[in-house]
Amino acid sequence: MAIDGSKIIHAVMEGSRIRESKGIIPLFGVYLSLFSVHYYNRLSFGFERELGPARRAEAAALLVKAAQECGYATFHGVRNSWEWGEIVEPMIDRKEDQIMGFAAVAVAFGWGDLKVRELIPGQVLRIQANDSYEARGYATDYGIAESGKCYMLSGVAGAFMDLLYGEDYPDGCFTFQAKESRCRAKGDSYCEFTVQRTPA
Ligand SMILES: [Zn+2]
Repeated sequence: MAIDGSKIIHAVMEGSRIRESKGIIPLFGVYLSLFSVHYYNRLSFGFERELGPARRAEAAALLVKAAQECGYATFHGVRNSWEWGEIVEPMIDRKEDQIMGFAAVAVAFGWGDLKVRELIPGQVLRIQANDSYEARGYATDYGIAESGKCYMLSGVAGAFMDLLYGEDYPDGCFTFQAKESRCRAKGDSYCEFTVQRTPA
């Protein structure tokens, strides 16, 4: 059976009505909260700008690294959750379907309209997003970028492959790395992330 993304999105929307007293949403084995993307973008791009042009690549690498660690732990929790077992697991026929499940959960979390375009088991994952909040936010606040700006989605895409083909949790993080070859912040019509093994 193919992964039915709409079923996953509905489950997350339904489940996200439950809030703890502090507004935390306990769902899919992890703790979620509603968060302003504008605020997140300000933190992220503000950090990059504070480090200055000479350290821009270093800032970008740190932001991707933080996102990849977050994605790795979050989707490890998601994959081991009761909801995953009940809703997603029955739709999984082969190991690779997990990536489709991860992408559908990320879409439901509001991280972007991720579409898996290519998956070569153990080697390559290519994901596209037409509406990344990072690309939209960067272009709105700072204009056209010279390089890809979707650090969160780059890290998350890398984490998906780490969880499938890296060492068992928690030793597999950063086995893979993503490159954002196209980004709407640069004026491309969509963002594209290509994930491959991190060179030794
Ligand atoms: Zn982008």
